[in-house]
Amino acid sequence: MTADKIDGRASAKALKEIVAADVAALENAGVHCGLATVMVGSDYGSVEYERRLRRVSGQLGVGYRHIFLAANAAQDMVIRVVLSLNADPSVDGILVLRPLPEHIDEGEVFQALDPVKDIESVHPFNAGLLALGTPRFVPSTPAAVFHLLDGYLDSVGEDRDAFYRGTTIAVVGRSNNVGKPVASLGHNRQAVVLSCDEWASRTGRLAELTRRADVLVVAAGVAGLITGEHVKDGAIVLDVGINPWTDPQSGEVHMVGDVEPASVSAKARALTPVPGGVGPVTDVWLMRNTAAAATMAAGLGS
Ligand code: NAD
Repeated sequence: MTADKIDGRASAKALKEIVAADVAALENAGVHCGLATVMVGSDYGSVEYERRLRRVSGQLGVGYRHIFLAANAAQDMVIRVVLSLNADPSVDGILVLRPLPEHIDEGEVFQALDPVKDIESVHPFNAGLLALGTPRFVPSTPAAVFHLLDGYLDSVGEDRDAFYRGTTIAVVGRSNNVGKPVASLGHNRQAVVLSCDEWASRTGRLAELTRRADVLVVAAGVAGLITGEHVKDGAIVLDVGINPWTDPQSGEVHMVGDVEPASVSAKARALTPVPGGVGPVTDVWLMRNTAAAATMAAGLGS
């Protein structure tokens, strides 16, 4: 078997048209929506992500502000920045890029966010709504995973509801911003969800668990973690990971995912590439959530 490629760039392009129409409708109503990102230090994945968001916001006409703080910035300083963005009427959505440096308690920073501007649903109030199945904002990466999955099922003529009910979804990675919300969205679709973190690997159980999955979502941040031996024949695999890989010959740094593409393609039915899979859809979804936050703030929409 050679896996179908789930093309995130094509999917993002189509989604962009929808979001551009939302942004244009807001402009017509006199509302200019704006996103602010906050980055502390220069993590590889965060730098890549911020660069993409800057470009996509420009393409869609979404206002964009980026605040960079040095890796040794004090927690109080980070919280002060968040509070100032909460109070800024030109900012509708705030993204605090992860990971934050170790001396910063990310929970404290996320609790400082105004929940109506918390477009990634990391504030406990919004995380609770998401876990209850009534999200205010569906966080962008988990939303992108299911958007791509839904699109793939549509493309092969499979009924989504029938597919999800009772299907086994394994999620590798259990972070608050990716792994857990992916698991919640799986629960909301009546899937059986296996949630694995690094202890599944340390106890030697990872392959045994992932091989049960009809859908395997990988978000661990470990290059090449998932190989063909982790994948059931015919599974759909979504690779969220973003990792730097240095070409030993040229010394150039490339982006790779958590999935080893050659061996997984030989087993899976479909696979998202890295780059060009989950990432581009994530970017556009964040703009969609920013437009949704602006719509709510302006008292527009239903
Ligand atoms: P994180 O570090 O917060 O969490 C990683 C999770 O993976 C943890 O639960 C950890 O226990 C688990 N894990 C680590 N090693 C493991 C192993 N060997 N086996 C099983 N589980 C393991 O990371 P995150 O923010 O959730 O991001 C995960 C990856 O996804 C990173 O590479 C990040 O850059 C990428 N990411 C991509 C996008 C995108 O749009 N494509 C968005 C967000 C994050």
